[in-house]
Amino acid sequence: MSFDLAARLAARQADNLYRHRPLLQSPQGPLVQVDGATYLAFSSNDYLGLANHPKVIEALQQGAQRWGVGGGASHLVIGHSEPHHQLEAALAEFTGRERALLMGSGYMANLAVITALVGKGDTVLHDRLNHASLLDAGLLSGARFSRYLHNDLDSLKQRFQRVQGNTLLVTDGVFSMDGDLAQLPELAAQAQAHKAWLMVDDAHGFGVLGKTGAGLVEHYGLSAAEVPVLVGTLGKSFGTSGAFIAGSEELIETLIQFARPYIYTTSSPPALACATLASLHLLKSEHWRREHLQQLIQQFRQGAQALGLNLMDSPTPIQPVLIGDSGQAMAISAKLREQGIVVGAIRPPTVPAGSARLRITLTAAHSAEQVQQLLDALAVCARETNHG
Ligand code: PMP
Repeated sequence: MSFDLAARLAARQADNLYRHRPLLQSPQGPLVQVDGATYLAFSSNDYLGLANHPKVIEALQQGAQRWGVGGGASHLVIGHSEPHHQLEAALAEFTGRERALLMGSGYMANLAVITALVGKGDTVLHDRLNHASLLDAGLLSGARFSRYLHNDLDSLKQRFQRVQGNTLLVTDGVFSMDGDLAQLPELAAQAQAHKAWLMVDDAHGFGVLGKTGAGLVEHYGLSAAEVPVLVGTLGKSFGTSGAFIAGSEELIETLIQFARPYIYTTSSPPALACATLASLHLLKSEHWRREHLQQLIQQFRQGAQALGLNLMDSPTPIQPVLIGDSGQAMAISAKLREQGIVVGAIRPPTVPAGSARLRITLTAAHSAEQVQQLLDALAVCARETNHG
């Protein structure tokens, strides 16, 4: 065989970077069955605990009764169903944008927007820590690809001096592996000063931040003119699956005409749109989840600081504990497992070399007692591994 896959896999093992897929044998929730045992889990992006909510399940069931299962065709052929259309209208209203466009996943949404808006002769400016799907989309677009230092406005200013063509400034809203926030007002001001467009992927901000849960853009009170391209995903706080792009009438029509990852794929099941409509209703009408989550975040941060753990500057449910070495991060994650707790160890290339971490995520479905259990287990790990 000409492809030496065995050597690649062996190197991955030797670097402590080999990935395994834990087998989940229960629905999402604070308590999960994994690989045959029950654990308390802090590693899901189901921030509001809606993935297994009875009303969302019921909407999916009723949606399947009414609409069947498969989307059947692409949106442009005969796959654009009424629930898709209703959900787009509801998401446009929720985000305060003229229109919204549903996509099968966040990864595809990012590919769709960036490749439709820029190409050869243009420029994409990225925060260095942007999500992989944004970086991949930038490369695929063929535009000049330039990364600035994480959340560093001076570094961004320097990059702006070397742009060409149309410029798209792209950022995560909440950074997925760090939990910190993009400085959107400053980014919007720089974009406007350079006649660039700002695109925000707020996958982790929707449902969690902002007065009504409409994310980081709402948190900062930015207009559609300041953030012309807004992406959200539905597999996190919404508890379902898929993604959306929100923006002007012209932007959405442009995507429908030109975005290949939108055009050449089958629409998602209409019943899924029914489920997301139900979760959007819960997200907008029941604010207690967001408030409870904020209390858990404060509780966790105070407890972890008292243990001397290396926290990041995160006001969100993503609360990474920085470890550094990949092997040590894996060892601590294994020690937590021995104590009945699941927390993922995130290693390069998902995060920069030397910055392996435990990515702890809190959800509104956790209780204060469960967060205390996590802190107690981390205290045991800190004593045993000197990671305090
Ligand atoms: N953007 C960000 C910031 C993400 O964290 C993720 C997924 N973790 C995505 C996009 C991709 O979304 P999806 O899982 O729906 O493909």
